[in-house]
Amino acid sequence: LTAYLNGRYAPLGELSVSVLDRGFLFGDGVYEVIPVYSRHPFRLEEHLKRLSGSLAAIGLADPHTPAQWAGLVAGLIERQPFDDQSVYLQVTRGPAYPRNQAFPEPPQPTVFAFADPLPAPPAALVEHGVAAISQPDVRWGRCNVKAISLLANVLARQASVDAGAAETILFRDGLLTEGAASNIFVVAGGRIVTPAPSTRMLTGITYDVVIELARLHGLPLQIREVHEDEVRGADEIWLTSSSKEILAIVTLDGTAVGNGVPGPIYRQMHHHYQQFKVGRMRP
Ligand code: PLP
Repeated sequence: LTAYLNGRYAPLGELSVSVLDRGFLFGDGVYEVIPVYSRHPFRLEEHLKRLSGSLAAIGLADPHTPAQWAGLVAGLIERQPFDDQSVYLQVTRGPAYPRNQAFPEPPQPTVFAFADPLPAPPAALVEHGVAAISQPDVRWGRCNVKAISLLANVLARQASVDAGAAETILFRDGLLTEGAASNIFVVAGGRIVTPAPSTRMLTGITYDVVIELARLHGLPLQIREVHEDEVRGADEIWLTSSSKEILAIVTLDGTAVGNGVPGPIYRQMHHHYQQFKVGRMRP
């Protein structure tokens, strides 16, 4: 695997960063994950825009122009021996000594990137759906920032693994926010319903695509607050993310969602998403 660190590409195992890096000491940094299909980055512009928004939100000057970022990503993609990839980009506020939470002046950001093979979501999961559990959302008030400090997400996600489930759905003050590593949609009363972007969730690139596809194909859609009891009573629940695409959640906390199988609107949306993906694989 060829990775990238501060201006150079090298085998992943040969790269290292300082133990004084603020990413390591404080979780002081942001990241992106960009799916790549047949060597074409999917929604690259949107991912780079979200990255620059995350950097702005933490007061760290973007070390690269969008064209430089695109070049960095292209260089990484062409160096991998596989076609479908998950490209990870991370920028931290860099090393600083003495240890001090306040920003170093000037910062020397650490830019790190690598690519993993991206397997398609297993057909069995698409066919049969996945289980989810729920937990109170105890994260901070700026979940719209794609920050590397992910401890609350890590604990929530592990809780689902411990329960033999694929995701943990988070509720704050009786309202749906998102999953530990995904956005959540429900189908209730024949409508697709999902929370509006806010500081309580990360606005997923996949979330945006699903909304676009619902509009394009004339599927009824409401973007609004979603109450916990609506989720528990929903006919369908979906999770969306760059790596999992769209999966139906067929049990929540051990209780069947709707008929306990992926629903008809899920099947339509999954089909639309696959068509859309294929359309974007060509230059
Ligand atoms: N919400 C959280 C907390 C995430 O970590 C992710 C990323 O996987 C998402 C939502 C979905 O975002 P995207 O569709 O851009 O992958």
